[in-house]
Amino acid sequence: MPTHRSQESGRDVIVVGGGPAGLMAALSAARRGASVRICEQLERPGLRLMASGGGRGNLTNTLAPEAMMARFGRRGRFIQPALAGLGPVSLRRLLADLGVPTFSPDGFHVYPSSESAADVQQALVRAGEDAGVDFRLACPVQSLAIEKGAAIGVHTSGGLVPAGRVILTTGGRSYPRLGGGEQGYALARQAGHTVTLLLPALAPLVIAEPWPPSCAGAALPDVECTLSREGRSAPAARGALLFTHRGLSGPAALDLSGDVSARLQAGAPVAAFLNLAPGRRPSDWLQEIGQWAHVGGGKTVVRWLDDFLPRSVAAALAGACGLPDSLTASRISQEQRRRLADHLAGWPVTITGTGGFEQAMVTRGGVALDDIDPHTLSSRLVKGLHFAGEIVDLDGPCGGFNLQWAFSSGWLAGHSAAGA
Ligand SMILES: Cc1cc2nc3c(=O)[nH]c(=O)nc-3n(C[C@H](O)[C@H](O)[C@H](O)COP(=O)(O)OP(=O)(O)OC[C@H]3O[C@@H](n4cnc5c(N)ncnc54)[C@H](O)[C@@H]3O)c2cc1C
Repeated sequence: MPTHRSQESGRDVIVVGGGPAGLMAALSAARRGASVRICEQLERPGLRLMASGGGRGNLTNTLAPEAMMARFGRRGRFIQPALAGLGPVSLRRLLADLGVPTFSPDGFHVYPSSESAADVQQALVRAGEDAGVDFRLACPVQSLAIEKGAAIGVHTSGGLVPAGRVILTTGGRSYPRLGGGEQGYALARQAGHTVTLLLPALAPLVIAEPWPPSCAGAALPDVECTLSREGRSAPAARGALLFTHRGLSGPAALDLSGDVSARLQAGAPVAAFLNLAPGRRPSDWLQEIGQWAHVGGGKTVVRWLDDFLPRSVAAALAGACGLPDSLTASRISQEQRRRLADHLAGWPVTITGTGGFEQAMVTRGGVALDDIDPHTLSSRLVKGLHFAGEIVDLDGPCGGFNLQWAFSSGWLAGHSAAGA
């Protein structure tokens, strides 16, 4: 692979981790004239990027930067400088320039036009090589080299690799076979950084009710899932819901899993409610159920529910309301109507667990933001040290937010490390 050494050793940049954040950091630093080396512990960079979006790679979305920031929650403003440097539009333009045009089939999610995340990985590696990035694969970084409060390189099994700047882009804890683990956090701690509590996020939910196996595989396109109120907080997520053998998945469940993980720390199950037709209240349903008796009173309630729910879900919902399969619309009592209407607008479920780090797409928690300058993504504690991607204490919902953050933050960290 071509190498390119700058005369000035202070402009040597080492990127630790070859995921989307690392690949982008390396490209951006090299294009700014720095001499860049990536140390990636696996034999291939960007494995998680290649697996993203079921292999299709939901790279970003069509939201404007302000709206995108809001979806990162309270600390969303932290990403503003990174988005200003490489936002969704400029990311798509950059990828197109690298030979990977993108498209948005639903006007929101953005994928490579080839629907292959591997094309993005290959294009970034190729662009890095063309810009002179030196790829060191199967090269885990064991510790940082820090002298007098400044990063001077990293230690690998081959010894000290000197550099004036180090960018940590080691990702999160989940999916160990794709490179997830604790090592990157240990490096951050070695530099004196605080690492906040690490929890699985974007993971499926496990529920206590007996009906999941009978509904496995069923899906609803638009459901709102709300956690029970705790103080002023009642987190909610809306989107497609997928029923699994053990519980719930799909964006409406996945997007809540970080909050669920945090609540499960207390040791008790978490109560949640599924609104199967967001925007409809129990009173709307009561009216509708009242019509059933007039229009087709001989038809069973489950068959009526079939009109807008998959059969297995309709049966599970009726069972959860204590309604017999054979109950017809003309025989449903007032009390049964009320129970059914309440469940349709807020089906209670008891969450006992998540898929954990084995199945979490991202990690909630990470290197605390207080000690990172959002304008350069540099450490406030150690000179010459930068962070990008999932290692920092930020995570977004489903929908391309996490890859956009990885790309934007990588771009900014590389740019500022090379220019510093
Ligand atoms: C199955 C799956 C599907 C996903 N789908 C999407 C999606 O469609 N859209 C979306 O926005 N997000 C998606 N995500 C999340 C997204 O992939 C991550 O947020 C993103 O990859 C984070 O990028 P990163 O570069 O920070 O970390 P990573 O991609 O995790 O890369 C970190 C790299 O650092 C390496 N590394 C770690 N420690 C060391 C060390 N000590 N020395 C050297 N190298 C090291 C790792 O091997 C790894 O290659 C998905 C995640 C998963 C698991």
